Amino acid sequence: MKYPPRSPAPDDAAERRSASPVVAYPADTLPAPPMALYEAARETLQTVDTIMVGPRSAAAFEVPAGHFFRIVSTEGPQVGDLNLFNRAHLAEHFYSGKTRALHGTHLSTSDRLWSRFPWLRPLATITWDTLDWYGFDADGGSVHDVIGTRCDPFTHRLLSGDDYHYCCHSNLLRALCEHTGLSTEQAEPLVHDVLNVFMCTGFTLDTHQYFMKASPVRPEDYLEFIAETDLLGVLSACPGGDCGQEHSSDAATCYPLRVEVLRPEPSTLAGWQPAAASAYRS
Ligand SMILES: [Zn+2]
Repeated sequence: MKYPPRSPAPDDAAERRSASPVVAYPADTLPAPPMALYEAARETLQTVDTIMVGPRSAAAFEVPAGHFFRIVSTEGPQVGDLNLFNRAHLAEHFYSGKTRALHGTHLSTSDRLWSRFPWLRPLATITWDTLDWYGFDADGGSVHDVIGTRCDPFTHRLLSGDDYHYCCHSNLLRALCEHTGLSTEQAEPLVHDVLNVFMCTGFTLDTHQYFMKASPVRPEDYLEFIAETDLLGVLSACPGGDCGQEHSSDAATCYPLRVEVLRPEPSTLAGWQPAAASAYRS
């Protein structure tokens, strides 16, 4: 933990602290997704593929641009760690940090999952969230965060000295290798910070440390997205289960997650185009 302050506060400390916060990226200049179009399209969805993600493992899935996908809770409360890639070019993947800067610490309906530089395009837009009723609780916690990273064997070893092989990082890596044929060395740099689907997290009100608490997700809850470009997704069913106790171990009860890929009636998206990459050139 941090040392207590050792530098004396200046005479105008109160004045300096009283500066007004300014939202760094005001939402009113962010191009809005066409939610009315998406809401009409989602009324016509037909399931075209179903992928099961076993406990403490991961699976890859592909979603064509303009199709939807859902991450669905099955037998019990379970957190999922999601990686998203441009299917045509895996170097373009989800950028958790910029997504957090644009949409805040936790995502829900109409928020978008942005790709890294130099592309910075929405890879997917959230179109439905059955946990949107949760909001923020008294501890400052909420669901579907972009503040955590993904549980990983490196941090686990740093903190405990032990090796654990079914962290989300390792699960995502194995599934990415299996799906693409890439080697571990090629694929590991592509695994990135996740959207923590269904996970309930925040920063403690006193020390501002990252915390997790038991997820409020229950069977048949889901988070739904529209693919804004052709996507490769990889989803890990976190070894922390509902993340109410611990992760990076076999201690928690874990359940499968289900991914559904859904096709809308094409006429409902007439005129819609996949998202374009940023036009800025360095
Ligand atoms: Zn995890």
